[in-house]
Amino acid sequence: EGKRGATKIVTYAPAIAPAALSPLVLQRELAEAIAEDQLFVEYQPKVLLATGRTVGVEALVRWQHPQRGRMSPDEFIPVAERSPLIDQLTAWVVDRALRDCAAWQQAGADWTLSVNVSARNLTAPDVVQRAVEATRRYGVDPERLILELTETMTPFDDEVLRRTVVDLQQAGIRVSLDDFGAGVTNLAQLRAIPVAEIKIDRQFVDRLDREPASEAVVASIIDLGHRLGCTVTAEGVESAEVAERLAAYGCDLGQGYYWQRPTAWRELLAQEVLTAAQ
Ligand code: C2E
Ligand code: CA
Ligand code: CA
Ligand code: CA
Repeated sequence: EGKRGATKIVTYAPAIAPAALSPLVLQRELAEAIAEDQLFVEYQPKVLLATGRTVGVEALVRWQHPQRGRMSPDEFIPVAERSPLIDQLTAWVVDRALRDCAAWQQAGADWTLSVNVSARNLTAPDVVQRAVEATRRYGVDPERLILELTETMTPFDDEVLRRTVVDLQQAGIRVSLDDFGAGVTNLAQLRAIPVAEIKIDRQFVDRLDREPASEAVVASIIDLGHRLGCTVTAEGVESAEVAERLAAYGCDLGQGYYWQRPTAWRELLAQEVLTAAQ
């Protein structure tokens, strides 16, 4: 009786407005998107603050939806993370990004490749083996690959995660802690897992030049990261003032609209060649 009532509600529900896209619809469409090649990847440079040189790029996934147009990852990643789809999505991004990486290597760029992963990805079976196989498929040195781990609300097994990170680093693949400072479990994660890089969340970077509290947070994270032997990267750098301050604090790398918005890798390479020629 109750069940039948629930079915009725679903059957007669009005058409769903784009703003209120149901997770189930989104998951079904995302599965199609992966299969039908509606996804693509843009890259944003990671810049050495001391010299302004691009040393790596971060892969950011985009979805060109046939009806809804271009969708931001913030609209579909959180939904994907709540289902096994996130494993398919990450595998797709890793594959495409490594293929691109092989191509820019061929063209003479020595950039590292950062790919975003969720904790759920790193607790899936055979993840290290599959990552190493993906690098081999494209002839990319595993040392070029960095996996950026973002904290999520989805529960995962801490011990499995820790083991995976240890195994990845042993295979030469580095792990980075993304959005550092934004969440509550970051410090616990730092103690438990051997990360090679910390990325300072852009909410602190953004206000660096006008808010003393943010300045204190940024300076402390840089110090903490270096004490742990990590590379420290600031994301969301939008001005020369912020870039200069970060460099003065000893931050290693910067990323942000000040240098470059995410774009096609060929575009980045063309600009790099132009800058080098100047
Ligand atoms: P994120 O990993 O923190 O990536 C940085 C986000 O900040 C990107 O947004 C980038 O376009 C944006 N950004 C870069 N520079 C600036 C700046 O100077 N100012 C401002 N205001 N923003 C800047 P995007 O591409 O929309 O991605 C949003 C989030 O979606 C990412 O945050 C990441 O958590 C997630 N994401 C993106 N691609 C993937 C992916 O392939 N897999 C997974 N699991 N997550 C992804
Ligand atoms: Ca990231
Ligand atoms: Ca981030
Ligand atoms: Ca983020």
